[in-house]
Amino acid sequence: MKKYWDWITQLRLRLGEWLMRVGARLRTLKTQPNRYPDYVTCPHCGEPEVEVWGDQTLATCHQCGKTFNYPSPSDHIKK
Ligand SMILES: [Zn+2]
Repeated sequence: MKKYWDWITQLRLRLGEWLMRVGARLRTLKTQPNRYPDYVTCPHCGEPEVEVWGDQTLATCHQCGKTFNYPSPSDHIKK
């Protein structure tokens, strides 16, 4: 019988965690529609995969540590 209650407790904990995760994701989608990463090329060192978030205007290169404007003029030409 104790095992059964342990199982129920585990299930409730997991369900609660899952609901919190789903709720947080829904809130994120509603409040921040631009939260997706984009990959741009660093104009300083040429690193091709500098991750920039959609609502950022300044990107920092993880390779050389320098910052550059986003979206950069060269990206506009490409797209
Ligand atoms: Zn760089």
